[in-house]
Amino acid sequence: MSEPVVTRFAPSPSGELHLGNVRTALFNWLHARRHGGRFLLRIEDTDAERSRPEFAAQLLEDLRWLGLEWDAGPGREDAAAPYEQSRRSALYTAALEQLERAGQVYPCFCSTLELEVSRRAQLASGKPPRYAGTCRNLDAAQRAARVAEGRQPTLRFKVPDTGKVEFTDLVHGAQTFACADLGDFVVRRADGSAAFFFSNALDDALMGVTVVLRGEDHLSNTPRQKLINAALGQPSPTYGHLSLITGDDGAPLSKRNGARSLRELREAGYLPEAIFNLLFRLGHSSAVLGMHDLATLAQQFDTAHLGRAPARFDFAQLEVFQKDAVHALTPERAAVWMQAHLPSGLAPETLRAFVAAIQPNVILPREVAEWAAVIFGDAAPAALADETSESRRLIREAGREFFLAAAAAVHASGTDWKALTTAVRTATNRKGPELFKPLRHALTGVGHGPELAPLLPLIGASRLQARFEHAATLA
Ligand code: GLU
Repeated sequence: MSEPVVTRFAPSPSGELHLGNVRTALFNWLHARRHGGRFLLRIEDTDAERSRPEFAAQLLEDLRWLGLEWDAGPGREDAAAPYEQSRRSALYTAALEQLERAGQVYPCFCSTLELEVSRRAQLASGKPPRYAGTCRNLDAAQRAARVAEGRQPTLRFKVPDTGKVEFTDLVHGAQTFACADLGDFVVRRADGSAAFFFSNALDDALMGVTVVLRGEDHLSNTPRQKLINAALGQPSPTYGHLSLITGDDGAPLSKRNGARSLRELREAGYLPEAIFNLLFRLGHSSAVLGMHDLATLAQQFDTAHLGRAPARFDFAQLEVFQKDAVHALTPERAAVWMQAHLPSGLAPETLRAFVAAIQPNVILPREVAEWAAVIFGDAAPAALADETSESRRLIREAGREFFLAAAAAVHASGTDWKALTTAVRTATNRKGPELFKPLRHALTGVGHGPELAPLLPLIGASRLQARFEHAATLA
């Protein structure tokens, strides 16, 4: 039996989740599900200055909204809890003491300025900057003297002078890092808190994490983290470092090239299905076409299909998935999704008919508001006020008699589409697009949209008549 798969998502709550983090969460979730394993959520909030509880609360909400429930994490504590790093400092202290006893760490009294000077000197002489080892061999008296000066030491990990750290990355393949290039790194900050490398590596081991999929920017941290685990006598997870996501312009995805936070996308009305179907294909090649639910995607997720090349985020592709996702909503979910943009006080039957009529034609809820105005509003469509519009051109071309015949047909037979078109065809001899286009434009001000037959009863006879009479005056 192979060991059970345990993955995790370990965000730092210093901002809103964006598509890059969400993809990391999704891939870890899918990998766990694919292998019948567990997916954990850990909040990396040790940086008290940058972490904010409201971001932590929001990211829980975001993940739930996407359907990425965690098997253990905040609100779902198990034996490895707590899952907020800010509540785990006793564990970090104990592990750091273990390393101190074993002589694998030492206090470093170098100031930020001293470190910067050393860094520049190394860069100037063409060497990669790394900690020069200044405090590595201080004796007890030298340390005491620095403490007496009031210097607050950090704690550094003693990286072996020789040897190398080797591992196989699930995305990047075989990796080799020479220890001599790593430099002794900080595991405890001067304020006593555990540094990222340390708490991250320790927690993965304590929580039994076996596979970590995370951003490529962490690849160079991995050898240090493996050294920490080894020094503590712990296993390290297998890592896979995910390729960067870029915007349309090839630059890393950011606010500038169209990145929006998950909250912004959600508030604009994007559906979870659209988002996770898009992300599934960002840096992960797949033969699966079309939209699928998370369980189906999980069956298709394969770390062997993770690519190294940067993955381009294409907004147009998101719109394609969004259209399919809206189309696939049940009538109940569609009504909830449209709710904020619907006029109040509609009869339940009218509401159902409206939702069903426009669902195939909208991508975002704001378009719902536009259709609601066209269908339930008393004002003529805005395009009709513009003499140069396509609507006005078609109305002029159809002529006054055409719309008077339409108004008379509504007067005679109400909101029946067949009766209306038959009457106008008989009166004007127009058929096909010549018949339908001017009617559509006079009613909606646009050339595309939901089928007209189910819209007529929603618009109602008196508004239909008024629109046709108005069109007659413009013709
Ligand atoms: N808190 C780190 C981040 O958000 C976690 C990195 C990791 O997944 O190991 O970048």
